[in-house]
Amino acid sequence: MTSSLAQRIVAGATMWTLLAISFVVSAQDEPRRVCDYDTLTIRSDFSGGRISGCEQLSANHYRLTIKPEDEPPINTSPWYAFIVTSEVEQSVTVDLVYTYFKHRYWPKYSRDSRQWSRFDSENVTILDDGSARLTLTVNEEPLFVAGQEILPYEFHTAWAKKMAARHDLNFVELGLSRHQKPIYKIETKGSDQTEDYIFIVGRQHPPEVTGALALVPYTETLFAETALAKRFRDTFGIVIVPALNPDGVEQGHWRHSMGSKDLNRDWGPFTQPETRLMREELERFRTDERLWLFLDFHSTARNVLYTQADDEATNPAHFAANWTKVVKARVKNYAFERAPRPVTALPTSKNYVYTTFGVPAITYEVGDETNRKSIEDAAVVFAEEMMRLLLDAKANQ
Ligand SMILES: [Zn+2]
Repeated sequence: MTSSLAQRIVAGATMWTLLAISFVVSAQDEPRRVCDYDTLTIRSDFSGGRISGCEQLSANHYRLTIKPEDEPPINTSPWYAFIVTSEVEQSVTVDLVYTYFKHRYWPKYSRDSRQWSRFDSENVTILDDGSARLTLTVNEEPLFVAGQEILPYEFHTAWAKKMAARHDLNFVELGLSRHQKPIYKIETKGSDQTEDYIFIVGRQHPPEVTGALALVPYTETLFAETALAKRFRDTFGIVIVPALNPDGVEQGHWRHSMGSKDLNRDWGPFTQPETRLMREELERFRTDERLWLFLDFHSTARNVLYTQADDEATNPAHFAANWTKVVKARVKNYAFERAPRPVTALPTSKNYVYTTFGVPAITYEVGDETNRKSIEDAAVVFAEEMMRLLLDAKANQ
């Protein structure tokens, strides 16, 4: 009795220490700013917003400092997102100055944070020092400016709830992120007989929005009212975790979780609450249920699938090579390659799932600046061909 109480006290103390640490981390990182000048306001106090400093250089020239959430080393994904409003219509110059690395994401803008456009090249100059200079026409209407379309946590939640309602799926809260945001999955209800599954994960890395722009149409294709998708759903269960790093997405992080950790380097150590939920969720595939395919959606400089190496056997066999071949024969305006990568000691989702379950575990990477319509069109084809291949594999097992 006494010892169990002591254990609980120790556990409580550990919890408070962790909370204190996470408070320190968030106190150091202050991406939420409201910078007020005579007629102009620049702000990042919204979901996904990030600027770490503002300075007025002259009447219509401003400098914004863009800083990662944690000191380097950190991945070179310099996310920025802010809103500019002005009491008078005017043209202003805004410099984006990075404390680490250099400008990467071509600036996009929106008036409502839903419809986004790329800035014309005449409005953007990339300077030799790695900063970017934007020329903006601003007025009373908020102008959103960001490295990619802003897809906040709420976007993913609303989408998942809509999918669950429309297709009669289970919407299940798996647990909480370090900053107490629900991490959830949507999953087909299946029947007692359902024992074959695919598993999809997204948004481990906050700025990797194009990965999310593929995950959405990919998933919707699996739930379409087509004969193929119906047959697939009669045969396979589907689990989707669309937003594994909600805190990072909310805070406009470049890479990390609120635990200052790259979550896709924690599948193995499982030091973070977010990745531990994935370990627990996948445990079922060790016993009575079978996992057939694992997909993790990300973004990088180009469209690429990171797959197992050719001499690493998967079950089903040769899935990635076959998938690539049939998709390449069908997609237009979406150049991509399969990049086989042997297992390393790096604790990524791909390495963990492949070494644990022996299934194809693929990182579906979408280029930062890939045409948005092409991302969607390709995702539909990838989804259709995945369904065909897995149905064939199941029929021939
Ligand atoms: Zn990534």
